[in-house]
Amino acid sequence: MNSNQINNSIGRGKVSQKVINLESSSNNLNTFHNIFLENSLEIKQFIKDATEIQKKFWLEFFETKSFNININPHMMKYVFYNKKNVNKIYKYINFRFFFEQVSLKKIETDYPPYLLIEPVSTCNLRCPFCFQTDKTFTKKPFMGTMKLDLFKNIIDQANELGVGAITIASRGEPTLHKDLGQMLKYAKSKENIFEVKLNTNATKLTEDLCNQIFESEVNQIVISADHYEKKTFEELRKNSNFETIVKNVKLLFETRKKFKNPLTEIRVSGIDYYKSTNKNIFHDFWIKISDEVTIGNALERWDTYNNKIHQNINDPCENLWDRMYIWFDGKVNPCDADYKSYLSYGNVNEFSIKKLWNNKMIKNIRNKHSTNQRNKIDPCNKCGVTFV
Ligand code: SF4
Repeated sequence: MNSNQINNSIGRGKVSQKVINLESSSNNLNTFHNIFLENSLEIKQFIKDATEIQKKFWLEFFETKSFNININPHMMKYVFYNKKNVNKIYKYINFRFFFEQVSLKKIETDYPPYLLIEPVSTCNLRCPFCFQTDKTFTKKPFMGTMKLDLFKNIIDQANELGVGAITIASRGEPTLHKDLGQMLKYAKSKENIFEVKLNTNATKLTEDLCNQIFESEVNQIVISADHYEKKTFEELRKNSNFETIVKNVKLLFETRKKFKNPLTEIRVSGIDYYKSTNKNIFHDFWIKISDEVTIGNALERWDTYNNKIHQNINDPCENLWDRMYIWFDGKVNPCDADYKSYLSYGNVNEFSIKKLWNNKMIKNIRNKHSTNQRNKIDPCNKCGVTFV
């Protein structure tokens, strides 16, 4: 990846989604870099307190006039939006650099750069490629709702540690939680949490919730929508109604117009389940009511426990180093491919995030992955997630 290009991939390896018809021009990228160059004096003052790695990164930037990290449209949006607050965008770029380095180099850190928190584990849809179709999962003890106090405690810890990005969602549909609006507002009130993303199937978007999303200045709302034709859409998003989803995404898009200079970006994200989606039609359909349309391949995720062992996949999984999933009941896990928590390494009701992140259980899993022994761990040996 040339650092003079804007990255059109969301995520990495086979788990990535491609932005269709990315229109951000190199002019935008120049403007992005210029914001930092124009504030070089102030930034050089900040660098005095930076780590050696950060200093090197910034000095290289001032020399080459371009960042040696992947830049994507939502990073640009965040920087354009906050361009008057040089300290904030300086810290934000440091966070993105740190996050990228941790993922790529599998660096052991004191705390997770990224958290995914699920307000609920239940979902109102039954998409055929999703683990919500596993009937041994959609019952106790796996189903439940997060208490608001627990959510706030997690966010307080995250802010103190310097966790820079949070996604609200994981195994379930977050809009089924009655306090979702409060959760978003709380997470966005924290100064060290730069990015808050919400994933949803859009079945339950109401005008109230749309207003709360924009008022809280959530960075990104990602709508899972897999097709542009009613029949296929409803097959893939089983139990949904195509017209309702389109109406709700329109409502979201229209509600945003009431807000002056809104930060929130609306992305429609699809899975090309039948490997036959016409990407241009898909893009043209959804882009009228969103800012960005992405599409990716279906992953062998939901049947993690029954897949055949993947003899050919043995690369270390980045999820172990760069993120922590926290379920509704406080249980922590390295990923949601392991949706029944075989790999869980504790609970935030008992230990702090920092303590859990550094405990023997997760270190042992990381160690196995980094020494070519991923295939000795169940279910990593049957999981199709790969980053090469
Ligand atoms: S099951 Fe293992 S390999 Fe698959 S995503 Fe989770 S941690 Fe990574």
